[in-house]
Amino acid sequence: MQIGRWNHQSTGSSGSHSKYSKNPRSGSFHNTRPTGNRFPASRSYGRPPSQNKFPPRRGKSFGSFGNTEAEISKFMNRAVVTTEEPVFVPEHTFSDFDINEHLKKNILARKYESPTPIQDKIIPHVLLGQDVVGLAETGTGKTAAFLIPLIDKVMKQKGERILIMAPTRELAVQTEKELAGFARGLGFRGMVAVGGTNIGPQISALRHTPAFVIGTPGRLKDLMERKALDLSGFGTVVLDEADRMLDMGFIDDMRFILGKMQKERHMLFFSATISKDIERLIGDFLSSPVVISVKTRDTARNIDQDVIRIPRGKDKFEVLAELFKDRNFDKVLIFGRTKYGVEKLAKDLSRRHIHAESIHGNKTFNARIRALEAFKTGKVTALVATDVAARGLDIPAVSHVINYDLPSTYEDYIHRVGRTGRADLKGKALTFVQGR
Ligand code: AMP
Repeated sequence: MQIGRWNHQSTGSSGSHSKYSKNPRSGSFHNTRPTGNRFPASRSYGRPPSQNKFPPRRGKSFGSFGNTEAEISKFMNRAVVTTEEPVFVPEHTFSDFDINEHLKKNILARKYESPTPIQDKIIPHVLLGQDVVGLAETGTGKTAAFLIPLIDKVMKQKGERILIMAPTRELAVQTEKELAGFARGLGFRGMVAVGGTNIGPQISALRHTPAFVIGTPGRLKDLMERKALDLSGFGTVVLDEADRMLDMGFIDDMRFILGKMQKERHMLFFSATISKDIERLIGDFLSSPVVISVKTRDTARNIDQDVIRIPRGKDKFEVLAELFKDRNFDKVLIFGRTKYGVEKLAKDLSRRHIHAESIHGNKTFNARIRALEAFKTGKVTALVATDVAARGLDIPAVSHVINYDLPSTYEDYIHRVGRTGRADLKGKALTFVQGR
């Protein structure tokens, strides 16, 4: 069995989320990092100085991609490691932007030295109040591309409120964490409104009129129906990963929510892919948007991709366990197709002393966040995930992505392998193909 000739270079974290501490004046939270099992519904950023609730994915084939040699060849991309990425030279620096000075300090404190391409291109338009469509994937810095100018907007326009819709609970939590880093000491509130966790604290948090509400469509709609969330006061909305929200069947909830907002609203729309449905949504809800695309290629060039052929009769679990004898397999994201299969695989690996956690729709929200943190911080070597649970997650320095089960579509494959080889790191993706 040959699995490629790539040498993993051990690297540290790409410096994603810095810690932020509680403002001593705000007594609301005991836990300053919303991880583990304590998850605050909302937080104030200080003063100046359930079970599987996902609807079935529609329009997707439940077959698999990788059943023909032509399809299998798409899982291989070996001649890539030597290519140098062209260096991006941004037009702006963060200090060029006409934004709040304290916000600039917070950006620097997070060690963001210069804008990524999407930030460089989008921030000036958002600052002008224009509607924007950003075609960008997770990993491009899209979150800060909308958070930075919108925080500035909240600082300049008193009473401005912003709604951010995201497809998954994890993405919503991640976005709020990033917001908390930028908003430190700026004196407004933000909250997360997602399902799978008690709605009571979210209803209470909404009474404080947080400037930012970040939520998944199902829970947002629920809060609106309970009259806890009134969108008539919201002048700005961000649809993050709109294509994923459509895939997950949220279209009716999204339309319902957008329909309850002010007619004159500022809208930012992010999607990794463009389809007829996406175009229709843009046409229905945005007015003359500026379209900015930073999507340049199908799969990142710094991901070395290969297949592992499993001979007929050989147990693929044994092949997987064997891989972990190589110490370079130190932060491995494994994809399985079913929630049951994913759970079982994580348990089987742990039994072999390969510490593994799992994330899938049958786990509670808190259990998923806990598993993710254990993986991010290196407490476990492997994270086994379903496609839906892994959507949009930002996990720094994943050494390997393993497609233990074939993806349903090529698009799912692209999303899976995109979890490794982030930023300037090299990554490796391996796809198990069973002998036939
Ligand atoms: P995103 O695409 O928003 O999920 O961001 C991907 C990662 O890049 C996150 O860990 C961010 O904290 C990080 N990031 C975003 N913008 C910058 C920047 N300008 N400089 C350094 N890191 C950044």
